[in-house]
Amino acid sequence: MTNSTSTPSYQGSMLMIVAPSGAGKSSLVNALLKDDQGLKLSLSTTTRAPRPGEVDGKDYRFLAKEDFLQERDQGHFLEWAEVHGHFYGTSKPWIESQMQAGSDVMLEIDWQGAQQIRKLIPSVQWIFIFPPSIEALEERLRKRGQDDEATIERRLAAAHIELTHAHEADYIVVNDSFDQALVDLKHILASSRLRSGPSMARNPALLKRLGV
Ligand code: ADP
Repeated sequence: MTNSTSTPSYQGSMLMIVAPSGAGKSSLVNALLKDDQGLKLSLSTTTRAPRPGEVDGKDYRFLAKEDFLQERDQGHFLEWAEVHGHFYGTSKPWIESQMQAGSDVMLEIDWQGAQQIRKLIPSVQWIFIFPPSIEALEERLRKRGQDDEATIERRLAAAHIELTHAHEADYIVVNDSFDQALVDLKHILASSRLRSGPSMARNPALLKRLGV
């Protein structure tokens, strides 16, 4: 998946989106996926049991621990982590097959995962979502109604650390007006499709005619 000049890149591009919890990342990505059939969300693989209503292949790719460890040892994960005794990972073969077929792939990931992936794939586009303020972030977490008080406090503390990594991203989108943030993400996606790697991979006949 390297961006070598001698081998063609994949037709699709790879983007990762990082944000403090509550900044609006999932809502924005869902809106983007709805409007753009060429974009696919990378499904995480996990060894934790499905929660009620979660569907294998839709919410996660659920794997037995021994199968996960085998795939990990075979180098199938771009990044992986163990959290509370369960394993989570990003499947490389799935992403590669999507990009080869011309789809762009979006990863929702934390900053540590983003750092790991950037080391392996320098051409990946890293997008960071800013909330308009810490107060707005707190209000969104409360209004979302998913977390108890202790979890909200933990998320806000984590937000301060996450925000110190924003400068590592290629793009910053401020999610104040949701509609504006969505337009900004669409522009980033459009520009990512025009990068020389994917663009050249999509136009082999033109390259030949131009003698490139
Ligand atoms: P994340 O995936 O980053 O944790 P969510 O997408 O779950 O965040 O959004 C957190 C909450 O904030 C949700 O209730 C969502 O509806 C709300 N939200 C998202 N974007 C905005 C926005 N621009 N203005 C106001 N509320 C928003």
